[in-house]
Amino acid sequence: MARIKTEAEIIALREGGKRLAHAIAVTRDGVRPGVTLKELNDQFEATVRAAGDVPAFLNYRPRGAKRAFPSAICISVNEEVVHGIPTENNRVIKDGDVVKLDGGVLHAGLITDHAVTVIAGTARQEDAALAEATRDALYAGIAAARGGGRIGDISAAVEKAGVRAGYGIVFELGGHGVGHAVHEEPYVPNVGDAGEGELLEPGMVLAIEPMFTLGTPRLRLKFDGYTYVTKDGTRAAHWEHTVAIRAGEAEILTVL
Ligand code: MG
Repeated sequence: MARIKTEAEIIALREGGKRLAHAIAVTRDGVRPGVTLKELNDQFEATVRAAGDVPAFLNYRPRGAKRAFPSAICISVNEEVVHGIPTENNRVIKDGDVVKLDGGVLHAGLITDHAVTVIAGTARQEDAALAEATRDALYAGIAAARGGGRIGDISAAVEKAGVRAGYGIVFELGGHGVGHAVHEEPYVPNVGDAGEGELLEPGMVLAIEPMFTLGTPRLRLKFDGYTYVTKDGTRAAHWEHTVAIRAGEAEILTVL
């Protein structure tokens, strides 16, 4: 799989990213106490399909997974960090729940990946701060993603933001190349050293995705084979954008 996307491919990824940002925004606006995860899943899927596209995670089977992912979007609540299955874990959202929406869109044969954290109803102050710091870390990582730099520049920027804010920095999972498949090389760790790792070349398309927690950064995989939860049950936040590496600043593709 080519790591460097052509300009024509980046144009298609930009359009797909815009559609994905719209579908995530519509779904985010539906997050409120009383809504079920299944309803949010269906809202996302309907929005993606109405635009003529396909939810990229539905039926996706990561390497090593025993079965394909059964939902259109990953929805993870509170201590669930990522990869929650809304069509099987059909819980009802409660006031103050920390909800992570992580979706992908397949548009014109190419995939983008985007996640947000939203708090239903009235947020606990510590949860709001966690969500904001994780979002800040995403933008710090994006600012560090410059052509001619190294993957480690992104990792170091994310790690620094997490250390400064005093959160658990999830290091067992990270970002990745994306475009022709949901997960491509290179891996983009959320901890690391600036100047280390693979060269960032213009035309690379990467999903950058910090995950921070209120306690331990260590994760446990639930018996469903997909949902990662914090080992200590503390709450987590997750934000993600797909970006194209350019000669200077990276271009965020998953925006309206
Ligand atoms: Mg991702």
